[in-house]
Order: sequence, then structure tokens, then C-alpha cells
Amino acid sequence: LSGLRPAASGRRAGLLAGIDVGGTKVLGVALRADDPAVVLGEARTPTPDSETGLLDAMADVVRQLDAQAGRPGITAVGVGIAGLIDRTGRLRVSPNLPGRRDVDIGVELHRRLGLPIRVDNDATCAAWGEYLAGAARGADDAVLVTLGTGIGAGLIADGELVRGAHGFGGEAGHMVVDPRGPRCPCGRRGCWERFASGTGLGWLGREAAEAGQFPRGVELAGGVADNVRGEHVTQAAREGDEDALEVMQEFAGWVGLGLGNLVTLLDCSLVVIGGGLVEAGEVLLAPVRTAYLRQVMAPEERQGVRIVPAELGERAGATGAALLGGLEASRA
Ligand SMILES: [Zn+2]
Repeated sequence: LSGLRPAASGRRAGLLAGIDVGGTKVLGVALRADDPAVVLGEARTPTPDSETGLLDAMADVVRQLDAQAGRPGITAVGVGIAGLIDRTGRLRVSPNLPGRRDVDIGVELHRRLGLPIRVDNDATCAAWGEYLAGAARGADDAVLVTLGTGIGAGLIADGELVRGAHGFGGEAGHMVVDPRGPRCPCGRRGCWERFASGTGLGWLGREAAEAGQFPRGVELAGGVADNVRGEHVTQAAREGDEDALEVMQEFAGWVGLGLGNLVTLLDCSLVVIGGGLVEAGEVLLAPVRTAYLRQVMAPEERQGVRIVPAELGERAGATGAALLGGLEASRA
């Protein structure tokens, strides 16, 4: 616990708990606001199916963190959750947690824990985590994009989170990039995440496999072209399979299209890529950088825009949530 030190005020600041609620697991970390890179406790549990079960599981994770982290105990909690979270911390719509709408997570958790609670979108939290403790440190204009089953994004402008009028800012995965494209669970067609997420990579891989142009992918998918998924493309590409590299090029074109649009809109200096797909490494990032340069407006006037992998891994959302929870409590 070499990271422990008194707060600047001389008074020992309390510890913060951050929770990231994903489709499969609830992950919590405990940390101090003045040294967020040092994780003082970590707890996780599978995501329950029911609303009450989920709220109880979140409260239980905070109690475990409180026990692990020791004195002075958890004094504020932040929650990151997939979905549209309004500015009062109410979950309005969650594609990952079906059937759950208008859940007042802040009120329900406060009732269970008696602590100040802040609730935000998971990718928004991850962006804040990477900004204060990860790959985006010092970049006051940055965007975080997580490439997983879908696409999440969080925006930092002038050192502040962009939350928007309703709290729904940063839904970059649902920018329409092809109005005649495939249907999206959000109800529209051709959203960026249909093409540029792990789902999109799997789709491009299957197209190639079914056209007989990706035999290694078919092999990795157990001999069935229709079973090719994003991870098979990534694995084959890392082996140097030419067909997979071609699929990756096409995929990178879609990723670069959205990144070009985001940088054209926000004029950020840094793009941080997180999510499961970033584990592909340079096999993905190198063609994405090339594609981005083709799509952004006036690239020659924006020298030095960097596209880098995230640093906090699966803890990014929980770390940012904890820090936002602390910020909220200090303002209250
Ligand atoms: Zn959509």
C-alpha cells in the first residue's frame, strides 16, 4: 500500500468505490482520488438477471471493497452501466440488460448503502478513467472508443466530460454511417457499431468465408463458414494469414471512417481504443491509423493526432466511475 498518503488538505480523504456493470459481470475497484492508478481492492460477481438481484449484487460488491480497502472506509460510490443514463443517474434504456428501463439506480443503491452514489454510462466512465489514470492523461481533448460486441464512446473536451443535455452524449456507436446498412437493435439502419465492432468483424469474416476467400477462418470456426466470428479473424490475422489481413483491412476502413468523423467533429488530439478488439494490437491499429487519415478532414493541419490502445483494461470503467463518484460527493 505504498500509494497511501495523506490528502493535500492534511485530512485523510475517504476511499472511493467504482462499479462497472457489464452484460456478464459486475466489477468493482476501490481507490483514492489522489492516486487513482493504485487499486486498493477489487471484487467481482456475475451479473444477475433480475433488477433486485443486480442492485443487491452491486451493494454487495461495495461492501466487499469496503472490507478489503480498510480505513477510512468507502465514502462515495460511482457506477458505470451500459445504456442511456440521464443526468439524474436514472437508467433510461439498456440494450445489455433487457427489459430494464427507468431504474433509479442511484436512489436504490443509496437506500442499501447510505453513501453518495453517482451513475453514468460505462463508456463515459471509462473515458474519465483513461483521462485521469490511463492512456489519455494530459490530453484535454480526447475520445475513448471501446470496440467490443458493440461500440461505446466517451468524450473529453477542454478537460471536461461531454455529457450532453440529457446525459446521453457520446453514443458514437449509433452514428449512422450507411442508412441502407443492416438493422441495429436501436431501431435504425447502418449504425457504426454494425460495421466497426467485434460483431462487424465477425460479419466481414463470414462474408469472406462464405465466398471461399477465408479458408483459415473456416478451419478456426470448426469447419463451418457460418460460425466464423471476430476472434477467428483476429487470430488468423495475428498468424499472418493473408485473407484475414485483407478482412482486417476492410474492417479497419470502417473503424477509421468513424474515427475520422469523430476527430473532424471534436478536433481531439488523442483517440484511445479500448474493448476486447484492442487485444489484436498493431494488426488492427496500424490499418486503422491509415484509414483514419483517409477519412478525417484536413489531416495535414492536424499533425500529431495519436491513436493508441487503452491502458486500464477491464478496470477502466470502474476506475472512472469511482473518480466521478468522488467528484460528485465533493461537490455535494
Ligand atoms: Zn444503432
